[in-house]
Amino acid sequence: MNANHALEKLMAGNQRYVAGQLVHHHQSSKRIRAIATGQHPFAIILGCADSRVPPEIIFDQGLGDLFVIRVAGNILDDAILGSIEYAVKELGTSLVLVLGHERCGAVAATVKHAEVLGHISILLNAIQPAVDRVKHEPGDLLDNAVRANIKLVVEQLKSSLPVAELIQQNRVKIVGAQYNLDRGAVEMIT
Ligand SMILES: [Zn+2]
Repeated sequence: MNANHALEKLMAGNQRYVAGQLVHHHQSSKRIRAIATGQHPFAIILGCADSRVPPEIIFDQGLGDLFVIRVAGNILDDAILGSIEYAVKELGTSLVLVLGHERCGAVAATVKHAEVLGHISILLNAIQPAVDRVKHEPGDLLDNAVRANIKLVVEQLKSSLPVAELIQQNRVKIVGAQYNLDRGAVEMIT
């Protein structure tokens, strides 16, 4: 499936979710057997670990449809990059959607310069450049920082190797989107 078609399919699923008209495709015992020996997910989602933003549910997709990577603040690191490269190269998935969301706790902690313990600081350090980009902009700092973080991760992905080469070869498209916690709608950012 090409990237544009994959994006249309995701957004159509989100529209069903917002309208309360979920179809729950690909969640039957027949589907379990159909994909038992191989997967061909049509989209890669890099989303936040937040319990309110599960990609399969908000896009109304089922087993084998989405290759999902979740981490607080939907940041990028080498293990996540490796996972994305695997799905593009080995599974033939052509769309990566970076999915941030309103009132993200990881972004909020970064904005507040929260004192954190242990490995949480790794998340905040990754998000800090996004906050720095918008700290003097008008409007709500958290909202602006969530959007800036989505754009930053999209940029980081697009400029990393070998993803940049895969983009040039038209094998993958990278987009960014934000989930609205109040309405359940996904809005494209990049
Ligand atoms: Zn979050």
